Amino acid sequence: MQDDATGGSSAGAAAASPHGAAAVAVNGKEDESRDQTYFGYYAQLTNQQNMLQDSIRTGTYQWAITQNKTDFKDKVVLDVGAGSGILSFFALQAGARKVYAVEASDITQFARALVRANHVEDKLTVLHGKLEDITLPEPVDVIISEPMGVLLVHERMIETFIRARINWLKPGGLMFPTTSTIYLAPFTDAGLYNETIAKVRFWEQRDFHGVDLSVLVPDAMVHHFGQPVVGCFDPRTLMAAATEFPINFMTVSVKELQAFEIPFRLTSNYTGIVHGIAGWFDVNFNGTDTHVCLTTSPFGPKTHWYQIRFLFKVRPARSLPACLEEGLAAHR
Ligand code: SAH
Repeated sequence: MQDDATGGSSAGAAAASPHGAAAVAVNGKEDESRDQTYFGYYAQLTNQQNMLQDSIRTGTYQWAITQNKTDFKDKVVLDVGAGSGILSFFALQAGARKVYAVEASDITQFARALVRANHVEDKLTVLHGKLEDITLPEPVDVIISEPMGVLLVHERMIETFIRARINWLKPGGLMFPTTSTIYLAPFTDAGLYNETIAKVRFWEQRDFHGVDLSVLVPDAMVHHFGQPVVGCFDPRTLMAAATEFPINFMTVSVKELQAFEIPFRLTSNYTGIVHGIAGWFDVNFNGTDTHVCLTTSPFGPKTHWYQIRFLFKVRPARSLPACLEEGLAAHR
């Protein structure tokens, strides 16, 4: 799924996309307007193309599915958030008997055109609607999806993937991807820190066209240092081994995804200034024939998810003691 840049970065920042709105929508009217923006974005060919052209992403999915024919041959498959339908086509390549491709955005008209042009109307059915509202004719053996946002959970689509499991997966069925790990590690980056503090310093002016702006310095500090930075960085700026937070898509509940904390205790590799915490994720396809990992690590090849960094907000830089103990919280 598409990434969402919530901040700039000195190195390889992602382009801004409209679904930042996804993170703040809660219910009722807000949900409706969030859906319009969110699914309007995915209805555009160019935004589906951006994901298809992430060859690490698309290639790893194809490999994971087609190298696990035991799990797909003659099976019924649900593709959650099918977009162009690419993962559904991979399931057919692996021998699936029937694939239901559920997609809420109007990209379905193009997905259906691909189904017709590739002569698979008998095996691949595109259903237009939200997964949460759709009724399938039968339960399924395998659920495939690409629901990952920045740091895995941004965009809240993992919850839809899990709802699909609860509603439609046969007992003993398979989630593909099957598990995931979120990684957090402290980083040092004086360049990023200086870039950010320079934005704050604008507000230190006491005579900006005759106006004293300086009262807003604390707010500007919280604002600029509170923006997560999406982009690639040099993994040598990481100062300790990452803390790992595993999530099992076969068992995790929707509630567990709505609010969770990742405690960490990090022992530094070397002394320096810690400017914040960096994060990324892997997903794993644990098939019967083979296991495949799709990583967005800074040590791996670049993907359209990049990585994310959170600068320390109040005390933006600390010299690193041997040990750093904190936590990161995610809340609905
Ligand atoms: N599977 C495609 C697209 C992934 S992007 C691929 O791998 O290329 C995620 C897609 O899920 C988007 O097209 C989005 O519109 C769709 N989506 C997100 N939430 C959904 C929901 N609740 N119900 C149905 N589709 C959803």
